[in-house]
Amino acid sequence: MIKNVIFDIGNVLAKFRWQKLFKELGFEGEVFDHVADATVRGPWWPEYDRSRMSDEEIWQCCCALAPEYSAQIMAVFENVENICEEYDYARSWIYSLKAAGYRIYLLSNYGRTSFEKARQKFSFMDLADGQVISYEVEEIKPDRAIFEALEKKYGILPEESVFLDDTMKNVKAAKSYGYHAIFFENQALAAKKLEGMGVFALPVSEDDDRKFMKEALKQAKKAAALGEVPIGCVIVKDGDIIARGYNQRNKKHSTLGHGEISAIGKASKALIDWRLTDCTLYVTLEPCSMCAGAMIQARLGRAVIGAMNPKAGCAGSVMNMLQMDGFNHKVHVTRGILKEQCSDLLTGFFTSLREGRQAGQGQRSGGDPHKTGRPVR
Ligand SMILES: [Zn+2]
Repeated sequence: MIKNVIFDIGNVLAKFRWQKLFKELGFEGEVFDHVADATVRGPWWPEYDRSRMSDEEIWQCCCALAPEYSAQIMAVFENVENICEEYDYARSWIYSLKAAGYRIYLLSNYGRTSFEKARQKFSFMDLADGQVISYEVEEIKPDRAIFEALEKKYGILPEESVFLDDTMKNVKAAKSYGYHAIFFENQALAAKKLEGMGVFALPVSEDDDRKFMKEALKQAKKAAALGEVPIGCVIVKDGDIIARGYNQRNKKHSTLGHGEISAIGKASKALIDWRLTDCTLYVTLEPCSMCAGAMIQARLGRAVIGAMNPKAGCAGSVMNMLQMDGFNHKVHVTRGILKEQCSDLLTGFFTSLREGRQAGQGQRSGGDPHKTGRPVR
């Protein structure tokens, strides 16, 4: 079974648009060809990616190929961050593959300076679970060594991974190393080929996920207004919110007062069905064992989580109950949506609680620790 999707960057996630850059720099006719032959089409470009030589040494080697065009050659290196331009689909494609549970890695030939500049412009970097870029390991595709570096760094097994690249020799090499591999021509075709291997992206939108997490945050604020730990939740079906909930454990004097439990109950009532298979639950904090258990019992389709909860979370922190082998149901999980807002709300709540407690202690001697102690979910 395929668990990992490994992307080349150039001409897969970002267009390698060197011809456009050359035109932007005003190169035409003979100049265009001479500069191309000394740089992107020349023998030193792979060495630039391999980065065993310093940039200065490579620049000198390139200029030596066409000394009369040294100024133009250097202009290419000075503007190297514009040599690739991200495709519109890159982020949303990776996002929807991740939502389906695939781990995403980048394996690309890139020189140090060009990648360090380019990565600032790529919107998808934060979605990748990991990367090996040629300059980091001083090895380039299609050599076995760079694939091995990725395998070692992340414990990846080739047979559980599919590799996408626009260069046939890299694709052939990956297959010979035991990977599933796709020769990338365009995104639509590649998505189809992935589906042929059983790799289906989830049809989700990051904008929608943010929109509904904001609704969950509104619920969390209701909890805060009651002096409860601010955790909120909404459940969405076919683009509509069908249930809302927030933490009311103290108000209800009940362990069962978590927002997710309340929302799951309301959603089942609304649908007149205990099964929530086609629903997505948005929650501002990673669910506890009780709520994760309820999600499995409800056959929930998908959970979208804001902040993680290292001490009690059961969607990847303490354990990943939602996706555990052995249970009869697994929930698709997306993590980290509006995580700063979600965790800021909690931090702000506990800070004001502490400050209130300190002020209270100033007036009274001591206090009831059961009433003033930090709530722990
Ligand atoms: Zn809970």
